[in-house]
Amino acid sequence: MIDWSAIDTVLLDMDGTLLDLHFDNFFWQEHVPLRYAQLNALEEAQSLADLMQRFDAEQGSLRWYSLDYWSEQLQMDLPALKRELAHMVRARPFVEHFLQRLHASHRQVYLVTNAHPKTLAIKMEAVDLSPWFDEVVVSHDLDVPKEDLRFWQLLQERHPFDPQRTLLIDDTETVLQAAHEYGIAHLLTLLQPDSSLQKRLDTTFPGIHHFDEIMPEEAVHD
Ligand SMILES: [Mg+2]
Repeated sequence: MIDWSAIDTVLLDMDGTLLDLHFDNFFWQEHVPLRYAQLNALEEAQSLADLMQRFDAEQGSLRWYSLDYWSEQLQMDLPALKRELAHMVRARPFVEHFLQRLHASHRQVYLVTNAHPKTLAIKMEAVDLSPWFDEVVVSHDLDVPKEDLRFWQLLQERHPFDPQRTLLIDDTETVLQAAHEYGIAHLLTLLQPDSSLQKRLDTTFPGIHHFDEIMPEEAVHD
């Protein structure tokens, strides 16, 4: 599925790619609505419906990913709520082994995430993957999300890579679409970003279930 001899740079998404998206789905679809209902004396179903409507209106924007924006909007300390669930942060299967192999292969490996810096910090405290990356790039720092073509232009300016020899793995199709338009040649998605949901069968880009399907060769030492 991947010809590793054609790849020099690997760009990896965090949530739903390296980490199980169940954490995020549970947080936004259950934990926050429950607390929001309690704070505002709402029925849980009403709280969920209200919040989903507000979230959907910002989907794919940098705001949608901003913990500070939603903390202010909802008048809740969302970083504190997230920390309550930190024990639920999980790496997806084979991730550490995959990252070890990539690191040993001397390819450039970047984490590229739309996660808010406070979310990134909470996740990396729970499951520290940061040592495996040459760069950790947060779209909030570039002021534009990965769904926007400009993200890839700015990434290229800051951390040059050859798009023809670059692989991006990301569970969000609109992100893969923007990267494709930019010219990144190798694109993969995840078939089951949230381990508690069904596998997806209708992805636009080729997908893997787990990283063991594309494990790079073991580095040969002299
Ligand atoms: Mg993702």
